Amino acid sequence: MTPTVFVFERLAALIHQLVRDDAAHHGLLPVHRQVLGYLAQANRYSDLPIAVADYLGITRGTVSQTLAVLERKGLIVRKADERHGKRVHLRLSAAGEAVLQAGWPCRLEQVLAASGVDPQTFEKELRGVLNALQRLNGNQAFGQCRYCAHFLAADGEQHCGLTGETLATEQTIKICREWTAPQTAAGITVDT
Ligand code: SF4
Repeated sequence: MTPTVFVFERLAALIHQLVRDDAAHHGLLPVHRQVLGYLAQANRYSDLPIAVADYLGITRGTVSQTLAVLERKGLIVRKADERHGKRVHLRLSAAGEAVLQAGWPCRLEQVLAASGVDPQTFEKELRGVLNALQRLNGNQAFGQCRYCAHFLAADGEQHCGLTGETLATEQTIKICREWTAPQTAAGITVDT
């Protein structure tokens, strides 16, 4: 194992531990905390049970049980889609949002801010590694909307080229299960 791979392994283990601690602090299991964290970032095409399963790499059965617990605890609410009859969107309640306050991502951001690394360069390099690993594993990328190949912005409006729908600004900074990496004119995928 190279020193770089060792660092990734230690980081992954440490983040797992932080997730466990955050979850236990609220009487939850780690998967409950992970689902809440995902839903806080997911756009309107991605706040669905199937997307939760894809993002976390867990079975639909586990997702279903997890959502039932979160709903019973009042941490999420289900909202029927106004246009697609059977589709149900999952939203955090105020109590669900409170669980995410001052969690491990905040502590990591503080450490990064204090480290002096250039956040944009650091993120770009890490994202390149992440994208390559996701391609290798055949995972969906779940990227941020405004960096998607389908994202269109013109005349002060933003649209999704895939669905043809207008995107509110707050949706463009969320993550999407339909996200597609941009390509160069030569057809090379660009790591964003
Ligand atoms: S532009 Fe891409 S990321 Fe944004 S909503 Fe459309 S498919 Fe999803």
